[in-house]
Amino acid sequence: MSLEPSVDPAADGRANYDYRSDEVDRPALVDDLERLVDCDVRGDSYSRELYATDASAYEVTPMAVAVPESTADVVGIVEYCAEREIPVLPRGGGTSLAGQTVNRAVVLDFTRHMNDILEIDPDGRTATVQPGTILGTLNEALATHDLKFAPDPAWGDKSAIGGAIGNNSTGSHSLKYGKTDAYLEECEAVLADGTVTTFGEVTLEELADRADPEGDLEERIYAEVDRIVDEEADLIEETYPDLKRNVSGYNLDRLVAEARGSELPGGEDAGEPGTVNLARLLAGSEGTLAIVTEATVSLEPVPETKAVTLLCYPDLHEAMRDVEPILAHDPAAVEVLDDVLIDLARDTAEFGPVTEMLPEGTNAVLLVEFYAEDADHGEEQVAGLLADRLPSATPAGEPASDAPRSDAETLALEALEAYEKAERAQLWKLRKSGLPILLSRTTDEKHISFIEDTAIPPENLPTFVEEFEAILEAHDTYASFYAHAGPGVLHVRPLVNTKTEIGLEQLHGIADDVTDLVVELGGSVSGEHGDGRARTQWNHKLYGDELWRTFQDLKTAFDPDWLLNPGQVVFRDDDPTDLREHLRFDPDYEFEAGFEPALEWENDNGMQGMVELCHGCGGCRGEQETTGGVMCPTYRASREEITATRGRANALRQAMSGDLEPEEAVSDEFVEEVMGLCIGCKGCAIDCPSEVDMAKLKAEVTHEYHQRNGATLRDRLFANVATLSKWGSQLAPLSNALPKLPGARKALEATVGIASDRPLPTFRATTFRDWFDRRGGARVSEQAADRSVVLYPDTYTNYSHPEAGKAAVRVLEAANVHVTVPDELGDTGRPAFSKGFLEKARETARENVSKLAPLVEEGRDVVVIEPSDAVMFQLDYLDLLSDERAERVAAATYGVCEYVDSFRLDETIAFDSDGAAESLTYHGHCHQKAVAKDHHAVGVLRRAGYAVDPLDSGCCGMAGSFGYEAEHASMSDGIGEILYEQVDASEGDRVVAPGASCRTQLEHRPDTDENPPTPIELVAEALE
Ligand SMILES: Cc1cc2nc3c(=O)[nH]c(=O)nc-3n(C[C@H](O)[C@H](O)[C@H](O)COP(=O)(O)OP(=O)(O)OC[C@H]3O[C@@H](n4cnc5c(N)ncnc54)[C@H](O)[C@@H]3O)c2cc1C
Ligand code: SF4
Ligand code: SF4
Repeated sequence: MSLEPSVDPAADGRANYDYRSDEVDRPALVDDLERLVDCDVRGDSYSRELYATDASAYEVTPMAVAVPESTADVVGIVEYCAEREIPVLPRGGGTSLAGQTVNRAVVLDFTRHMNDILEIDPDGRTATVQPGTILGTLNEALATHDLKFAPDPAWGDKSAIGGAIGNNSTGSHSLKYGKTDAYLEECEAVLADGTVTTFGEVTLEELADRADPEGDLEERIYAEVDRIVDEEADLIEETYPDLKRNVSGYNLDRLVAEARGSELPGGEDAGEPGTVNLARLLAGSEGTLAIVTEATVSLEPVPETKAVTLLCYPDLHEAMRDVEPILAHDPAAVEVLDDVLIDLARDTAEFGPVTEMLPEGTNAVLLVEFYAEDADHGEEQVAGLLADRLPSATPAGEPASDAPRSDAETLALEALEAYEKAERAQLWKLRKSGLPILLSRTTDEKHISFIEDTAIPPENLPTFVEEFEAILEAHDTYASFYAHAGPGVLHVRPLVNTKTEIGLEQLHGIADDVTDLVVELGGSVSGEHGDGRARTQWNHKLYGDELWRTFQDLKTAFDPDWLLNPGQVVFRDDDPTDLREHLRFDPDYEFEAGFEPALEWENDNGMQGMVELCHGCGGCRGEQETTGGVMCPTYRASREEITATRGRANALRQAMSGDLEPEEAVSDEFVEEVMGLCIGCKGCAIDCPSEVDMAKLKAEVTHEYHQRNGATLRDRLFANVATLSKWGSQLAPLSNALPKLPGARKALEATVGIASDRPLPTFRATTFRDWFDRRGGARVSEQAADRSVVLYPDTYTNYSHPEAGKAAVRVLEAANVHVTVPDELGDTGRPAFSKGFLEKARETARENVSKLAPLVEEGRDVVVIEPSDAVMFQLDYLDLLSDERAERVAAATYGVCEYVDSFRLDETIAFDSDGAAESLTYHGHCHQKAVAKDHHAVGVLRRAGYAVDPLDSGCCGMAGSFGYEAEHASMSDGIGEILYEQVDASEGDRVVAPGASCRTQLEHRPDTDENPPTPIELVAEALE
């Protein structure tokens, strides 16, 4: 099973991109490797910089990037590199938080091709997968068998099984499931010299038989493991912290527990004595021991029922004191959120409403989830917990008679309960609000991940938090505390400015002090994110001299020349890893945009702040099926890092901070390869946890490019589409016939670059405005009306699709609204804005605002049919004009269905319910999604009598002029395919979409002859 896009958009002969730059570093390395292996090997400056970061604070430019397609490719690369002492770094989604996925090495990206699910055995409850398989994709495939890969890292829909093995990942439900190692049965691995082997369970006798300290690499590995089991088991048992979750250092505690059949730290049963599983030794090794090319993992049943309760506390310390007694109730998850985050969440549009559920005085919450056999059992477990921890509560169920009781004092103020899926999701949403809020700062101070992952025995959490706070105070900063309180794993990201020397000292000082605290309290410096560049140096302090040397010996046995991801987990004493080195932002960092921004940037640090905002989490690499949302359609169509928001953001920052050539950001190549493929859907502005607004950055760069180099004829034509449409309408039907002449489209493609295979819009001789005038204008007088609107005649509605305008007038008048359609307004400036003609867009905006503002002041609202034009008024005008009048116009502007829904106009309208019996598939417009206004049409259609299946779809791929551009037509098709699949899977009889571009794209859905209407036309059809 493979989830590759059916066609690579770059393969289209017209595409002007190949996902890389022309400037190749180390051409000999790339040429040699390309001769040796079948896969793509890239040494160009863009590719190398794209893989220089992960989700951490670090940045190291690799030597080259290879995209293996088979184990043979991996072997070829590893052998070649081993002979020349070139380091190699295996990589999954690059979502690691400690810097273990960046190195001066040849990077192997497994997610592009080696991402197949090779076998699912539902009876044996195992799956065999390639390392680039995304966990979310695997779980989707397993869902039909009611099975899942149990460890659930929060970013599982963007991260791969290879990375989960590399980091020994786990998630919120580790109390039930433990870490990845518990599920790793066997793996195929390429060793440091290119040997391919299979690691799995062996008896201690087999281990000894295969061990030969003088033998080949594999035999030497067995010999070292055998020695560790023989000689160091006691030391390992004594030294490793007794924690359910500890991923610092190598996974030697599991090795010893399996060999001895003793209990694993944290209480997991290691099974019968006498065997060890070497595959599990790779778990948490961060690519430093071997490269996994195939893995067989065991699976767990999907739990039937869940129940959640949210316990509210007056402060974090009280919440921490309650964790231990709560654990006696055997919950599946206990998660914490502190006052810093609750307060920040209160002020956000997204999370604010969830915080309103919290009782007054709540300054910390613990979310407790139970897995249950059925609904009654779920209620019973919550009741058991509350009877113990909050006796004043009156829960929905009755506690079991044998429910645990502790004599600890009552600390919680109140508890919320949630049993239905949607209610539970609300509470989880509050818990997960932490990261996006913390990571939205555009200041130089950032909430850095470097001691964000400590694990502490739960009974020590109260002391730990108190002393941790004191450390932060001593270092003159603060942080919030959130995450997995149950297993003692707290995520804490202090605010630090690493662009200053003081910041670097804070980084080191805090980490040093926190490590001392962790050691004192029996904890670990990493409970789930791994060691990487941030924490490797603390392993020495955590484990002591002897085990540090054992780590070094194990590393040498697996990787004699230390070429596999060197410097992570353990280092050579003469080549230490220092958490202050290789930071993305350090005191030497310099930013030079090379031009003055043309748009308004309200955020801290202006455009620079936005360019530096992406923290590399890889959220923009999620698939439509598993992640949903809009971001990022071009990545979804191509699976290339450079086409993800992260790739663009990294490339732009690197271009503006000297990692690429000076002025690179406004070079032809950068504009074509990096910014040109962004379709400006604004998906990232809403779906990215940090709200990186790449569409706005693209507008800036393209504008500057035009300033320096001029614009093409095609760009100028598209920016002036309103004038073209006006001529088209005046010359119709001739204007519609001309493109149909034999050879006309080919000529247009050859001369102007407009794709010959994309039907052009057609024009109407009678415009919407003409129609409105001819009918005698408004039929509801201003005096008699309940409301009064200016119905803005957008370009597409006016010249190409007046039916939507007519329908809007009918619906609005049916709701007793006075409608005027002014004739003195120009287009909104959307096409000029999208094509980077920002002065032209600003001029248009200024004119429109000057005409609309007086009407708004008279009490009229502005209603727009075309979603991208509505959003132009609502959002983009504020980037063009710092003008109170623009703000007033923005506040008074509505999409047509938004207007009907917001003022519940349809409640005053009589609908013919027989006429509207159809079931619809609704595809919303991405720009409306960016301003959270796409739901209105669904509500209105439903109340008009339609059954509506709203798709969780992204951009359609047309994106205004993008799909018409010959070099972008294949990318547009690739994005369109994702939407077609969703429409095909929907049960609606008919597709409906408010956006003109979307409807054009949907007309091309294979094997259909569809001409999708706008929602307002269907609402009008349903009028009595
Ligand atoms: C917002 C956010 C939330 C997160 N939440 C969690 C969480 O809840 N729990 C958690 O555990 N982690 C979490 N993480 C960290 C990270 O997402 C996980 O550790 C994840 O499993 C890493 O997978 P990846 O595919 O991105 O791996 P990468 O980052 O690409 O690689 C991780 C390590 O594995 C190694 N590796 C990759 N492929 C192979 C291979 N084929 N063979 C050998 N080694 C390999 C790499 O060299 C690297 O050292 C989070 C990260 C972010 C950004
Ligand atoms: S653009 Fe946003 S989602 Fe993508 S990596 Fe950057 S911060 Fe994460
Ligand atoms: S605007 Fe759309 S295409 Fe561009 S980076 Fe953001 S999500 Fe991707």
